[in-house]
Amino acid sequence: MFEGLTGRLGDIFDRLRRRGALSEEDVGAALREVRIALLEADVALPAVKAFVAGVKEKAVGQEVLRGINPGHMVIKIVHDHLVELLGETSEEINLSATPPVPVLMLGLQGSGKTTTSAKIALRLKTREKKKVLLASLDTRRPAAQEQLKVLADQVGVASLPIIPGQTPVQIARRAMETGRLEGFDVVMLDTAGRLAIDDELMAEVVEIRDATKPVESLLVVDAMTGQDAVTVATNFNERVGITGIVMTRIDGDARGGAALSMRYVTGKPIKLLGVGEKVDALESFHPDRIAGRILGMGDVVSLVEKAAETIDREEAEKLARKMEKGGFDLDDMLSHLHQIKRMGGMGGMLGLLPGLGKVKEQIKNANLDETVLKRQEAIILSMTKQERKKPDVLNASRRRRIAQGSGTTVADVNRLIKQYQDMSEMMKKMKKLGRKGLMRQGLS
Ligand code: GDP
Repeated sequence: MFEGLTGRLGDIFDRLRRRGALSEEDVGAALREVRIALLEADVALPAVKAFVAGVKEKAVGQEVLRGINPGHMVIKIVHDHLVELLGETSEEINLSATPPVPVLMLGLQGSGKTTTSAKIALRLKTREKKKVLLASLDTRRPAAQEQLKVLADQVGVASLPIIPGQTPVQIARRAMETGRLEGFDVVMLDTAGRLAIDDELMAEVVEIRDATKPVESLLVVDAMTGQDAVTVATNFNERVGITGIVMTRIDGDARGGAALSMRYVTGKPIKLLGVGEKVDALESFHPDRIAGRILGMGDVVSLVEKAAETIDREEAEKLARKMEKGGFDLDDMLSHLHQIKRMGGMGGMLGLLPGLGKVKEQIKNANLDETVLKRQEAIILSMTKQERKKPDVLNASRRRRIAQGSGTTVADVNRLIKQYQDMSEMMKKMKKLGRKGLMRQGLS
């Protein structure tokens, strides 16, 4: 969902990290880039301004205090600010009222309101063991009430019987009455949408609100609509009042800055995310997770930090070029081992890399410490030039000779060759990430 912003910020922090120290000027330059990146990610201008100002204030202040590892510090501050802006905790639906608790569903036509109502009903039923009644107040689209009934049947919750000719407010009152009489915990009221905000719609929704006094008024917005979603949220919040936001089509949104701005301009929490068409495609909103995704940080960031500090740039570039050509041989492995030694062991480095579970496991099992690294170095140095270039030629007799020459055993040699094969495999995987991905992960 946030790939665009992630990539952009990744580039910026990459540039930052290549410098020795981070001056105030650098902070300013980085924040200009952050600002552009956020705007390109469809974050609303007021939110961007507030964000950048907040980060700047903290960054400069902290630099005076500590003045160490500034790149890392800026990332941390940007991350913390994103979390703050997105809302610190994951908030679930508030049901703290005497049942039946009215939950009003709001939003434009096509935003995913009806689907989301069914998704929430299913969630409340399965997770909280609530008895939920679904009611469609959409009297405009002839099939709307039927559509909700079909969905209600699908998720196994009750729906209000359809009585033709009633107004939305009449249906809402009847739903609440049914809820009371039949002992429902929650009554979900799915209002009619429009193609755009209009006064008639707002008046209708306000009337329903006043008749039912909802505990939650959840606005459903389509994340794909970016800035428009923010306008919709502002309008609904000002004219009807909302208690939370559900963003749908997160599965399809490439920019996702709307999440940031929506939270900022309405001050209302994003409570849930719709991540697909199926009735169970609904997720809780975790600000730290989203912020982490935006920055692509977490473990990868620590890895880049570590790698940038220790890896010899030229050697790394050479290795990257080789890997691009697909020609990773034992000489390369040797130079890689030198780098690893400087980085405090392979376990430490690979432990930071995501998506390499199998290799990580093997390395851990191999218990790679300094002595192992030394032994491996000795094994490779006992090979001929040709053997290092073409490890395929390493048959049993050659392996015996190498073991003798390096003062190790054939089993040690076999292990090293196996490890070389695993690494080549890993390099191929890394190659798929592309040159840029590699650089960012500090392995180039
Ligand atoms: P409403 O007019 O606001 O009630 O919208 P609907 O609930 O009828 O949804 C419109 C379309 O969006 C339907 O085809 C849904 O299946 C689809 N939809 C709803 N939520 C999501 C979502 O989170 N992801 C995806 N990919 N599609 C969704």
